[in-house]
Amino acid sequence: MRELAELLLDGRLLTAPESIEAYRRDFVPDPSAGMPCAVALCASAADVQASLRWATRHRVPVVTRGAGTGLSGGATAVDGCLVVSTAGMTDIRVDPDARVATCGAGALNASVKAAAARHGLFYPPDPGSFEISTIGGNIATNAGGLCCVKYGVTAAYVLGIEVVLADGTLLELGGRTVKNVAGLPLLPLFVGSEGTLGVITRAHLRLLPAPPPASTVVAVFPTMSRAGEAVVAIGRTVVTSMLELLDNRTINNVEDMRPSGLDRDAAALLLAQTDAAGSGRLEDAATIGRLCRDSGATELYSTDDLAEGDLFVDIRRSTGPAVERRGSLLPEDVGVPVDRLPQLLARIEEIAAELGVEIPVVAHAGDGNAHPTIVYDSDSEDRARVAFDRILRTAVDLGGTITGEHGVGRAKRPALESQIGSGALRISRLIKAALDPEGILNPGVLL
Ligand SMILES: Cc1cc2nc3c(=O)[nH]c(=O)nc-3n(C[C@H](O)[C@H](O)[C@H](O)COP(=O)(O)OP(=O)(O)OC[C@H]3O[C@@H](n4cnc5c(N)ncnc54)[C@H](O)[C@@H]3O)c2cc1C
Repeated sequence: MRELAELLLDGRLLTAPESIEAYRRDFVPDPSAGMPCAVALCASAADVQASLRWATRHRVPVVTRGAGTGLSGGATAVDGCLVVSTAGMTDIRVDPDARVATCGAGALNASVKAAAARHGLFYPPDPGSFEISTIGGNIATNAGGLCCVKYGVTAAYVLGIEVVLADGTLLELGGRTVKNVAGLPLLPLFVGSEGTLGVITRAHLRLLPAPPPASTVVAVFPTMSRAGEAVVAIGRTVVTSMLELLDNRTINNVEDMRPSGLDRDAAALLLAQTDAAGSGRLEDAATIGRLCRDSGATELYSTDDLAEGDLFVDIRRSTGPAVERRGSLLPEDVGVPVDRLPQLLARIEEIAAELGVEIPVVAHAGDGNAHPTIVYDSDSEDRARVAFDRILRTAVDLGGTITGEHGVGRAKRPALESQIGSGALRISRLIKAALDPEGILNPGVLL
């Protein structure tokens, strides 16, 4: 430990248990989280290299951490590990003519968005945590968000990264060019690798010209399946820049926390936005409204006012804190082909009824990506875990995925093989062994 302390600048190595405590878990309150031996607050790629060389030399497991907002236990510490924090690497530079932002792994997503906006540019990926999560964490989980339905997930915006391997080797993958097909595509391997292949220290991110302000349509449905049908119909007809769904429990959770005049009796609420250019936006909003009515919407509201639209987006973003007040949580992140969303939603309702547990659902509905959150207390914990497994199984049975955007982490690792199969798992482990032969990077996560 003295050796490592000498490699890092003063104060960059935390060893006191009280300062380490905050680095043991991400947003998943895992009671089995271990106690790190130390936390390295890295300020540069050189700090990360020194930390990893030390960890390799002494066979110390390494848990890489951005902001710790992960929802799958990917940054949960194991006993005796070194936590490598990249949160301090926050520099951002925007090259507006190349439409590229270059930033340290610890830059917050919101800071990159703001830096791009100062040049009239737009960094689209917008996880619900965009104000508090880091670009390094976003890349390592291939984060999605609300606008992916039109703009795609983080992977679509990562042009290049700098990454440190377990033995301290620094790799530059990709660069600042929009196109780049030289060599095997190694860069995508690291996008979504959840800290198991290397530590990302820097990224070159693709920016777009800022889109025009969006029009907003809100529709209320008497059943979840009708809302699901509307999602399918809208997806076939209009390119929405947001298509989110809140179920009845979520609506009531939000109303309990911040009364907003939502219909507490509604089975489902759809929130759609379109940011098409010119008059296309108004036409698209009218089409979305018509398709919602055709699918049985009982109430419809449409606005071109940006501030009013933002109020609804704010309501959507408050669904996380609103459900946190209900009790202990098991967050899910399943995805299905969009046409099967109604079946997924119906099955989740059945599972909640069968097991007598509360499962509010919000969904990035346009992507077929649902976040059922299982609420439990000490009496219902066992049933909650059964519900968790049944929902994962349902997604796989419907041809979907156990995780659309949060990652496998520790929470869903036992279910990975049921989705990707033993062949893909074996190849993944071979790749991991080639890059991290001692297996020190995030043991127990993902693979
Ligand atoms: C309220 C709320 C809303 C959310 N909404 C969304 C959403 O809409 N969409 C979505 O996709 N996610 C969402 N999330 C989940 C979470 O914010 C994302 O997974 C985010 O990308 C994690 O970033 P982080 O900096 O907090 O990473 P952490 O939680 O610190 O780490 C996440 C994983 O990435 C690894 N990692 C972190 N930094 C690095 C690095 N520099 N190099 C290599 N590996 C690294 C860690 O080891 C871990 O496996 C939400 C979370 C919250 C709390």
